[in-house]
Amino acid sequence: MKQAKRSFLVIGLGRFGESITKTLASFGHEVMAIDKDETKVNKLADLVTQAVQADATDEDVLKELGVSNLDEAVVAIGDDIQASILTTLILKDLGFKRIVAKATNDYHGRVLEKIGADVVIQPEKDMGVRVAHSILFGNFIDL
Ligand code: ATP
Repeated sequence: MKQAKRSFLVIGLGRFGESITKTLASFGHEVMAIDKDETKVNKLADLVTQAVQADATDEDVLKELGVSNLDEAVVAIGDDIQASILTTLILKDLGFKRIVAKATNDYHGRVLEKIGADVVIQPEKDMGVRVAHSILFGNFIDL
């Protein structure tokens, strides 16, 4: 069955954010991709609706880009915990319906949940659990 078109903002285009961006776009959804690093932005420019070089912790810049027109967001900034938290807070205030955020450790994850992230992911930790289940039981589990 064909899915209705959805609109996403992906912030942070490292391996995790890039992979999410490519997959969402490959299913035909609207994707705006943002990173402060221009090289990463250029790499995905042809695949997405809009690719922009910007600092996502700057609320005015996000407003100027019209990100509020999008429904769902993925915050894929990991190492810079302050930037991840600030960005998530701004997107929450801007009224996103759903925010998925990447955490680098449990404390980071707990803060993201407290400020309103709907789904918090720790990619390496979560994948470790899934792979172990796959080794033991032959199936991937939903976390
Ligand atoms: P991954 O593990 O997904 O490969 P990484 O190790 O490259 O990620 P992270 O620190 O998790 O690095 O950052 C992911 C991306 O987020 C990077 O491409 C980085 O440029 C981007 N980024 C970090 N801070 C900001 C910010 N304030 N605004 C926009 N992009 C940012």
